Amino acid sequence: MVNKNEKFAFEVVYAKNLPKELKRIFVKALEKYHYVIPTWCHKIYVKYEEQDADGSPAHVQSLERYREAIISIAPSIVGESPEERIDRILLHEFIHILLCPLVTEAENVIYRIIENEKFRSWAESQLIAKEEAVVQDLVKVIKNNNPK
Ligand SMILES: [Zn+2]
Repeated sequence: MVNKNEKFAFEVVYAKNLPKELKRIFVKALEKYHYVIPTWCHKIYVKYEEQDADGSPAHVQSLERYREAIISIAPSIVGESPEERIDRILLHEFIHILLCPLVTEAENVIYRIIENEKFRSWAESQLIAKEEAVVQDLVKVIKNNNPK
């Protein structure tokens, strides 16, 4: 089933198996934070994984080249109550889409410049750690400045 949301500059395609309650929370989060989604992103696919792939309640794959992002939600997100916690997780994923061009470029630079496998691996893990920290800082800034 395809649900188009005409309210935003981007299209949202929800997976058929996404539980209704999660869809409601997702729509609400988008209504609050849609401005975080960058203009290059024309379409967001919302997937629901029947099994947790890596133990994280959600993750995003940004395909800037194709102007799309795929947000995958795992069943473990349901355990993230209250709803406020899920709201924060979704905002976190939206911010990852925003940072995608910067992070992708940094990854490319690391890959092209660092030949030593050990140093490359270290640089990649540092980049991931810093990205997550910046994402969390932005979640805090947005939450503190966003009316309920
Ligand atoms: Zn993250």
